[in-house]
Amino acid sequence: MLVLGIESSCDETGAAIVKDGRYLLANVVASQTEIHERYGGVVPEVASRQQLAAILPVIETALQQAHCRWEDIEAVAATYGPGLAGSLLVGLTVGKTLALARDLPFLGVNHLEAHIYANWLRQAPDTDLQTDASETESAYLPGDPLFPLICLVVSGAHSELVLMRDHTDYLLLGRTRDDAAGEAFDKVARILGLGYPGGPAIQRAARLAEEELRQQRLPVRNPYRLPRAWLRGTYDFSFSGLKTAMLHLAEGLVADQQPGRPLPSGGRQVSRYTTMGSEAARRGQVHIGLLAAGFQEAIVDVLAVKTRMAAQEYHVRQVLLAGGVAANVALRARLEEELTPLGIRLQYPPIEFCTDNAAMVAAAAFFHRLHGEQHDLDLDVEPNLSLPFRQE
Ligand code: ATP
Ligand code: MG
Ligand code: FE
Repeated sequence: MLVLGIESSCDETGAAIVKDGRYLLANVVASQTEIHERYGGVVPEVASRQQLAAILPVIETALQQAHCRWEDIEAVAATYGPGLAGSLLVGLTVGKTLALARDLPFLGVNHLEAHIYANWLRQAPDTDLQTDASETESAYLPGDPLFPLICLVVSGAHSELVLMRDHTDYLLLGRTRDDAAGEAFDKVARILGLGYPGGPAIQRAARLAEEELRQQRLPVRNPYRLPRAWLRGTYDFSFSGLKTAMLHLAEGLVADQQPGRPLPSGGRQVSRYTTMGSEAARRGQVHIGLLAAGFQEAIVDVLAVKTRMAAQEYHVRQVLLAGGVAANVALRARLEEELTPLGIRLQYPPIEFCTDNAAMVAAAAFFHRLHGEQHDLDLDVEPNLSLPFRQE
């Protein structure tokens, strides 16, 4: 089954064509990051206008890329929440209109389910995918993630630990009580003057600082030990205390212009790092990088340990990562460390499918469509939509 997926929940405009919820025929994303960069975050009014300008060219390009005619498409799917109302409205309206015009079933897709289903995507094998029959229209194929599984959804606005016993079956184990993981990355990057989007910027700054230390043959051990909110006895997260700690540390950093003077970080070897190198600017950069690394380490630590504990408690053999923060190299590595000794498999999407895209929308839609689901064309946007959790 070929599904045309459309994504427009925030500042990415995406269209993709995916066969049987897995095989990529085309995936086109127009990103507005450069436009929002100068504001330090997404401006909703600007985002929806950009969505409007991008949506039709993006869909046309996807059809061309897939060498696909409209007659080949069997369903149209678009994100209807959560996200920015104005942005969502663009993709949803275009999706419903196309479905009506082409007399195709329409599916509204939950953006968070889509992030999860990015884990089912893979490159199409060379065979002619468009003509072979629907024998492969199966809910379970070799290479798919195996249920039951734990999924850690960590994106710009969400941080949730979820147990999935089957397709589209979600049990909420824990969620953030304040900031989402991606939001924390973005805010801390702003505090450190590293720019937007924060996740990739923090990852890069941390890596460069650690490389610098290695080159100087200094211990790579990070002097900044940042607080972790464990919230023991729950699978909930809290990242706002960490953010505040970063704020205080960054203020201390600005105040410290004298080489050799220890920072008020509580760390041990700070003074050694402050005297490193000759030039103040580079010193400052290494400091900021180490702060970024300390922050990243703290957030990754909590996410990885809690995910491992959930995986053990629910006896799963597989853990999935989903959402923009799943792109984080430190998180992937740290989780691998936690899970591999237990024989639990970790899976995450390739980086371009961690952040917003339409291929994941088409994938999620397929598994709903397998049960014959479709939406009426009066479906409206739901900016605050959550995952459809089962009550237990
Ligand atoms: P949601 O999916 O919750 O509605 P969103 O769509 O804005 O929010 P995503 O596109 O899933 O969020 O992810 C964007 C977030 O991922 C941003 O907060 C960004 O900083 C973060 N992110 C992207 N790459 C990385 C990375 N390498 N490390 C850490 N965070 C990252
Ligand atoms: Mg985005
Ligand atoms: Fe997202």
